Amino acid sequence: MGPRFGPPRDFEYEKVKKPEGIKDVPRYLKELLGGFFYRYGYIFMLVWKSGPWILILLFLFALLKGVLPVLGALISKHILNELQGEVAGGSFAMSAFWSSGVVFLLGLFFLYQIFSSLMVSVRDGVTRVAGEKVARQVKVQIMEKTKEIDLASFDLPAFYEKLENANREASMRPLNILTATFNVISAMIEFVGFVVVLLTVPELWWMVFVIIVISVPSAVINFIYRRKNFRYVRHRSKDRRQMNYYANLTVDKDLAKEVRIFDLTDTFIDKYQNVFEKYFSGIKKLIVEESLWFSGIAVVSNITNFFLYALIVYYVMSGKFLIGDYALYTGAIVSISACVSQIISISANIYEGTLFVDNLIEFMKTEPTVVCRAQMPEKAKTNCSHTIEFQNVSFKYPGADKYVLKNIHLKFAPGETVVLVGLNGAGKTTLIKLLTRLYDPTEGKILLDGVDLKDYDVSSLYALFGIVFQDFGKYAFTVRENVSFGAIHKKVVDERIRESLVRSNAEDFVGRLSEKEHTPLMRIFEQNGKELSIGQWQKIAIARAFYADADILILDEPTASLDPLAEQEIFNQFDSLRADKTSIFVSHRLSSATIASQIVVLENGRVVETGTHRELMEKKGKYHLLFSTQAQRYIEEKKDVPPIHGKKEE
Ligand code: ADP
Repeated sequence: MGPRFGPPRDFEYEKVKKPEGIKDVPRYLKELLGGFFYRYGYIFMLVWKSGPWILILLFLFALLKGVLPVLGALISKHILNELQGEVAGGSFAMSAFWSSGVVFLLGLFFLYQIFSSLMVSVRDGVTRVAGEKVARQVKVQIMEKTKEIDLASFDLPAFYEKLENANREASMRPLNILTATFNVISAMIEFVGFVVVLLTVPELWWMVFVIIVISVPSAVINFIYRRKNFRYVRHRSKDRRQMNYYANLTVDKDLAKEVRIFDLTDTFIDKYQNVFEKYFSGIKKLIVEESLWFSGIAVVSNITNFFLYALIVYYVMSGKFLIGDYALYTGAIVSISACVSQIISISANIYEGTLFVDNLIEFMKTEPTVVCRAQMPEKAKTNCSHTIEFQNVSFKYPGADKYVLKNIHLKFAPGETVVLVGLNGAGKTTLIKLLTRLYDPTEGKILLDGVDLKDYDVSSLYALFGIVFQDFGKYAFTVRENVSFGAIHKKVVDERIRESLVRSNAEDFVGRLSEKEHTPLMRIFEQNGKELSIGQWQKIAIARAFYADADILILDEPTASLDPLAEQEIFNQFDSLRADKTSIFVSHRLSSATIASQIVVLENGRVVETGTHRELMEKKGKYHLLFSTQAQRYIEEKKDVPPIHGKKEE
């Protein structure tokens, strides 16, 4: 499979090639409509999955909403005509009031009103509940999808573009499109009702066509601007991501200290304002243009309506129509033009909406590349020691030109303790990411027990590793949950949680917490959430790796945030635990390398030396140089530091 992420892709619908002549128009329309109906079907499925009753109820409400206005207008007409008759009759007996036809009709009219308002409130309630359900459905779908997505994707702006686009549309768009669809259905029913009313009047039937014709420009303008709007918003996804980013910087808990001390808030606000201005100027132009067009159209259609009304007034005055007829027919004209413009504008919104939902569809279509290549995937064998071999592995990050690792040949025997050393940026973490198959090598291959990593079933391969990354996770959950995340698919065994905490030297401070291992960590959600020091967090992360009880233990700079004493203890623990397990440490403190059965020295993405501490010291090469420099510095630091500080350092 080739790389899936290039530069941000152009709009999906523009893949539909513009017609190259009049003969090509049917193809163009077919593809355009095909895309539209595909997206539309997708939305229906989404809502159907969130609850079929949502669709059924909304459809029923749509029918009622279409029929009711026509009924209302007919009742009103009869009331007015009856009234006119009564008034014209001259004699009025109070005794006949309650039994008169007008009062009966009035009663009917208010029954109709009660029913209409009940329907509106029930429909609004149902729509709100449905909105929540659909939003959840889409969010969960997006979250489930992220499980499949390659880590490599997270390195690419195009991915965030997709994710932002998908997330933005997730909550409201699908249901909005559906309610809009039902509104179109209601408008159509109402439209047909009033059209029938006018068509049955010999003097007025032609008005229907006038009203429809003057609506055409409005339809065209509507569709053009919905499409322009979509293109603009999607094109400006980067601006919106930047705005979100700047806004979040000012409230990010981890950054709060720095932002305060360096007084960065105003800078971030300025950045936000600048991007907003850029984004807004385009949107403003579209909004102004569209409003001007619609104002013009509104003036023309109102002038036309004036002449239509005038004609009806003429018929009333000449005695052809009654006053009730006037109310009904002018009402019909207003309603027909309102329905036509509603049908047009809602359809345009639906069209725009489906284009946006395309963002979601595109995200859901993302295919992972870190997948098993073999027809019959190998299941990684558990509970044993493993051989690992790098065969001429080279790697560059997706979208980058520079090789981060080049021609790596390495072999780790079962049960070895390997220490990777090298300066920052040498490629140590990247090597770990390749070994754990978070990325695939650009060239060469990595064998586990003689089998290419790509031939293993990915989840059984991942289960082999217990790992503490340099940027390990800190989860706002309890201590117990944080540790149990190491083996999430197994039942939590409290005894083992405690054991892991003991091994990672975390039991002391966890024991002092108010609710021991049930204490929630971080004060994001819980008032009694406990904030830990970075060293304490690292102990929790190490406990998590122990809890995983995996075959291959990997600690990436495990001791970076630990004091030297704690570091020694962690190493001792590892020493006693590793037994027949392969362990791999990345460490910048070379003192830890002395326990290794194999030290790998990396420099600029290449392996420059391998061997044991003794071998490499004797060789007097790179490792010797690094080690001596570090040892020298350590000795000097010890010498320079006055006793009181020296004590503190421990
Ligand atoms: P080390 O662990 O030895 O400090 P790393 O493996 O983290 O080094 O990084 C090696 C090189 O790869 C560095 O030059 C770094 O800038 C680059 N690098 C690391 N992560 C990424 C990434 N996600 N995308 C592009 N380059 C990266």
